[in-house]
Amino acid sequence: MKFGGTSMGSAERMRAAAEIISKETGKRPVCVVVSAMSKVTDLLLDTLRHAELGDRAAVDNNLRTLLERHIQACDELLSGSPSAVRLREPAGSAVRSLMAEFHRIANGMFMLSTCPPKSVDAAISIGERLSSVLLAHYLESAGIPAKSVNAAEVVVTDAVFGNASPQMGPTGEKCAQRLQPLLDEGVVPVVTGFNGATANGQPTTLGRGGSDFSAAILAASLDAGELWIWTDVDGIMSADPRLVENVAVLDELTYAEAAELAYNGAKVLHPRTLAPLVEKKIPVWSKNSFAPDKPGTRIVDRLSGPPGVRAVTSMSNVALISMEPANSIVSGTRLMARALDALALANVEILVFTSSSYRQVFCFLIRKQDVPVALEAIESNLSLELNHGYLKPVEVDENVGLLAVVGEGMRGTPGLAGRVFTAVSRERINIIAIAQGSSELTIGIIVRRAGLERAVRAVHDEYGLGIATAHEAVNVEA
Ligand code: ADP
Ligand code: ASP
Ligand code: MG
Repeated sequence: MKFGGTSMGSAERMRAAAEIISKETGKRPVCVVVSAMSKVTDLLLDTLRHAELGDRAAVDNNLRTLLERHIQACDELLSGSPSAVRLREPAGSAVRSLMAEFHRIANGMFMLSTCPPKSVDAAISIGERLSSVLLAHYLESAGIPAKSVNAAEVVVTDAVFGNASPQMGPTGEKCAQRLQPLLDEGVVPVVTGFNGATANGQPTTLGRGGSDFSAAILAASLDAGELWIWTDVDGIMSADPRLVENVAVLDELTYAEAAELAYNGAKVLHPRTLAPLVEKKIPVWSKNSFAPDKPGTRIVDRLSGPPGVRAVTSMSNVALISMEPANSIVSGTRLMARALDALALANVEILVFTSSSYRQVFCFLIRKQDVPVALEAIESNLSLELNHGYLKPVEVDENVGLLAVVGEGMRGTPGLAGRVFTAVSRERINIIAIAQGSSELTIGIIVRRAGLERAVRAVHDEYGLGIATAHEAVNVEA
């Protein structure tokens, strides 16, 4: 079971999580994975940025806020019964010593005026380590044997700081040594989400929102029967509920559909979550910790219902990069190969790629935050071609957004895909690029940023994905 930031956001939410855990531990062994308390990772990162800039007052202010929030949760959780009060002192001192560890790293950045990714990773997993200590102590106080575990001891990763990938073999061995004995003894391991360490022990993190991925890595390594992801909405929905009013909760999705949704911007799952689970076919549930009795969404290998369009998703913090040879002497394909090679070396992920064979133009969509690194990589790899005028200057358009429609079997159904274009053009929103074809179950289109939300609503309506309004329901019955 993985509990997200909101589900760990206060003493009250941690109590609710503990109740969910205690119901299941009676039936079978449970391994828990936790996020940091909501907004804590942002605050830790903000503190490190202020440290790098030498703003001592801002650093101290953030440190105070972080300590107070966790100590307050600790005091609220561990009060009342004698067993709770007995654990308050050790839990409080664990919180203080983790905060001192963070303070030391921030001080180093302050003195050196730099914020290297390696040290950032060592520092920001403190958020998850704090919440794991709090929940484990609370479970103990409630009579459920539990142990806080730092994932750096079990999740072995490569050394891509800030976006590390797991090494499943060594991770499986560590889980067998460290977590399995706890489960066998009836102890609930409360493992930190988001972090890991390289084989030689350097702390790493799996990317923002990575606790979902941590939970999937551990579920696969422990051969779990199921993975339950507890969040703050009723499950995976037909669109982002912050953009569309009448969203419907999906009963069921395939791994492929859920992965496409996550990769195309649905924040409810970290994009890499499903990959470790597919091979072992471990079913996943996305459920609401605020309403645990609601069914939630089940992610499985095969659907029991008919295929079709399931959901619309979007990404707004993206940029479209276009490249074009200046004359026919240079091969467009060769340029593509060089550009892609440069991006791969710089660890820049391409979200969409399209090309035209006649003019040899190609364009690709990347995250806005990756633009500086991507341009530097391309311009240094292709400096000769650029300087000698074989390649037109690289164009960057940040005024765009990506919309994706996802559903198993969509491509095989005549007319189904085309309705995306009808809906978007009816709203008079200009389509800049189209990426169909690369995936069986997704159509991606790039539109002007200003029209993105409107396009999402129009496409959601076009396919009738939302719940029927009271008015529509009456009409249907009539
Ligand atoms: P957690 O902290 O539990 O990991 P997140 O904030 O990362 O939670 O993800 C849950 C949020 O994802 C929801 O509150 C919702 O606003 C957003 N979201 C975006 N798209 C979707 C979608 N298609 N279905 C459900 N939630 C979505
Ligand atoms: N706490 C981390 C983040 O905010 C990981 C997570 O919550 O999934 O990115
Ligand atoms: Mg999340």
